[in-house]
Amino acid sequence: MHLFDILKSKGSAVHTVLPDATLEEATRAMVQRNIGALLVCERDLTEGERVVGIITERDILRFSASGKGPLSEHRVSDIMTTEVVTGAPSDTVEETMGMMTKHRIRHMPVLSEGRLVGLVSIGDLVKNQIEQLAMENHFLKRYIAG
Ligand code: AMP
Repeated sequence: MHLFDILKSKGSAVHTVLPDATLEEATRAMVQRNIGALLVCERDLTEGERVVGIITERDILRFSASGKGPLSEHRVSDIMTTEVVTGAPSDTVEETMGMMTKHRIRHMPVLSEGRLVGLVSIGDLVKNQIEQLAMENHFLKRYIAG
């Protein structure tokens, strides 16, 4: 199984936020959409949208615990991660899980020829693995039963 298989059923929509949005706006966007991460994109006049970082619920939690003040007074660019780890549609689910474990991340934007084509979360990968195992189990049982 590859990331393009997952994106085929999940779709290619990626929720984004501007770097100068407040942390309160980013939090509200994540809660409203029931997601744990937003890709931070800048609008570039020549190139269109450009990925400049990623912000996840973990960053908001860390900020909240730091006592640095209200979410409404800080910007996404203050706490986002700027070195974004990305995957390719041809990467396997196993490879991607390995990368996520190595980097301790749960969200992976997927790029094809420099263009954003989707985002997979650890939840999407686990769901896919469970479905695969259930299917294997089904066929093995049928094979054993003759
Ligand atoms: P997560 O486990 O995805 O909530 O993220 C944990 C930390 O890693 C947070 O500081 C995120 O900003 C960062 N992070 C999440 N996904 C990525 C990614 N694809 N590339 C780089 N950093 C990430």
